[in-house]
Amino acid sequence: MNTREFIQLEEQFGAHNYHPLDVVLTIGSGAWVWDVEGKKYLDCLSAYSAVNQGHCHPAILSAFTEQAQRITLTSRAFRNDKLPLLYQKLHELTGYDTALPMNSGAEAVETAVKAARKWGYMVKGIPDGEAEIICASNNFHGRTTTIVSFSTEDSYRKNFGPFTSGFRIVKFGNIESLRTAITKNTTAFLVEPIQGEAGIIIPPEGYLREAARLCKENNVLLIADEIQSGLGRSGKMFAFEYEGIRPDAVIIGKALSGGFYPVSAVLSTKEVLGVFSPGEHGSTFGGNPLAAATAIAALDVLVDERLFERSAELGKYFLEKLQAIDSPLIKTVRGRGLWIGLELTTAARPYCEALMKEGILCKETHSTVIRFAPPLVITKEEIDWVVEKLERLL
Ligand SMILES: *Cc1c(COP(=O)(O)O)cnc(C)c1O
Repeated sequence: MNTREFIQLEEQFGAHNYHPLDVVLTIGSGAWVWDVEGKKYLDCLSAYSAVNQGHCHPAILSAFTEQAQRITLTSRAFRNDKLPLLYQKLHELTGYDTALPMNSGAEAVETAVKAARKWGYMVKGIPDGEAEIICASNNFHGRTTTIVSFSTEDSYRKNFGPFTSGFRIVKFGNIESLRTAITKNTTAFLVEPIQGEAGIIIPPEGYLREAARLCKENNVLLIADEIQSGLGRSGKMFAFEYEGIRPDAVIIGKALSGGFYPVSAVLSTKEVLGVFSPGEHGSTFGGNPLAAATAIAALDVLVDERLFERSAELGKYFLEKLQAIDSPLIKTVRGRGLWIGLELTTAARPYCEALMKEGILCKETHSTVIRFAPPLVITKEEIDWVVEKLERLL
């Protein structure tokens, strides 16, 4: 079958909830992917940062296939011999005491919302049913009905109501907005340290530090959604490290899988995640041995290959090269680590399509921003090649 035939089948039988570029991928290796016609592309999206380690990383592949041949799913009705090792690894790497594993990012966000609410009632003493969670404008935390309840994006919400109540929106990056939104019933502030889907939006210096201080002062949990920003994408393990803070809970997903298998987690303290008793929360696949073995290998690759440092160094190099491009089409270029938003003065989609023809895969976000988020194993020479093509195009 060729590209046209695959696309036709997909359009005919699949729901149209995405608008992908018309490239049908069949092989991936490191920073590169190949389509069904045999054409090669440099991946500058990394599956929204789920393949930070590069496609089909051999060490993760081998952990994954080895585990797949032993046992894949036990459910949490029984214990397995991989989940405890993942817990230990997460603790060693992040310092957080306790973890709760789920599958998708959205499920981990839901888990954090439930934990924060229950903590609000059990520990903080908020009257039953009155807990409030504060979220930021232009946030992206996933697609469940509860999560889109606190989205400010019309297309994420329209016709999906009625919504879950108990959420309040503040202006992202504006500390006064947060200060005035906190009440005695506020249980948590849920925030992306850098907003990814919004277009790689970095808040003003000091914002997160001040937010952490406000949360502490008011006995409010600070919950960082690091599903996209975390695990090396921003040039550190977590983007919140740039502000020297330590959130009460961190949500991870995406690159925790190395792209192999959905796995996510909430990391926090015994006080917060300790609010769950048996039977109150769970998932059939959450914490399964295949996911745990995969995640352990995915984390090991990030550390062993120094991908955090690599992201910081190459990200800086890439950003400076992009900032040096002189074109009236460029409005701004911003980023941290290998996570860069190039904002155009015009629609980004045609440029993503043109880049695809040149062998570079990018996806627009919020219509005018091209996001560059290549696998962290990309080389300097490959970055030069991308910049050269882009410069000619713009
Ligand atoms: C991708 C993403 C999610 C949702 O993760 P899924 O695995 O798609 O459910 C949540 N928060 C952030 C910041 C994300 O980038």
